[in-house]
Amino acid sequence: MRCIFLLVHRPHAGATALVIVPSLALAVAGSLLLNAGAASAAGSVQPINVAGNSTPITGVDQRLPSLGTTSYFTAGPGFADEIESYHDSGGYSSDQQAVATAAGQFLGPWLANTCGDTSAAMCRPAVVFDIDETLITDYALYAANGFTLPGNLSRTSIIKCSSAVIAPTRDLLRAAQKEGVAVFLISGRKESARLATEACLRNRGVTGWQELILKTPATQSLSNAAYKTKARAGIEARGWRISYTIGDQLSDLTGGHAAQGFLLPNPMYYVG
Ligand SMILES: [Mg+2]
Repeated sequence: MRCIFLLVHRPHAGATALVIVPSLALAVAGSLLLNAGAASAAGSVQPINVAGNSTPITGVDQRLPSLGTTSYFTAGPGFADEIESYHDSGGYSSDQQAVATAAGQFLGPWLANTCGDTSAAMCRPAVVFDIDETLITDYALYAANGFTLPGNLSRTSIIKCSSAVIAPTRDLLRAAQKEGVAVFLISGRKESARLATEACLRNRGVTGWQELILKTPATQSLSNAAYKTKARAGIEARGWRISYTIGDQLSDLTGGHAAQGFLLPNPMYYVG
């Protein structure tokens, strides 16, 4: 197996460590990895090693270009051909389906081990979904703007609900609900976008969630990873047991307070 050597920043330890990981799917808290020049075909779902992280993570390569930054960026027009090839070949959709399938297969055994014969009402099982590029996607909008997205366009997208549903994860959500598992949505969108977000999700067939958690003035200054970890901890503090958390960013998954994280591809932007 080919391996790649990564210098990984460990935010909790305040240190940098050398990590050896399989070359297909790599990751890092705070940094990225990538597969610039990658073929358009779908990748494989496998464990993703994140130094210092307490949540086991499974997923696919995010296919982000390596732009040498640990803060937010969009891929930009220079990567348009590669991203469009990945999308148009069906590789993007296939990877989303593969990760959703893996998450679905995780839930049953987890329920049996965690709840046994205890009713869902007593056991209170839960799963956590991110929203953007997890349940709905702005791929078309990004593609039309050279894989960048100015803030005004992002706000317009939310208000007008230009996002399309991602069917594999919508179906994953529905499958969890059928098992009596509560669905929590945790998004980096602001509280001011609540009504538009709820309406758009329902319009796209995403319904029945237990709670939608958005960024408030009190949590706005937190990093995405800290904000989402804090939100999951709050869910557990209210008596829920979180099986998996699924999202397109490592910051949706790291930090504990879930039995397993599932990483979806997102070749368009990195949140950090
Ligand atoms: Mg997202």
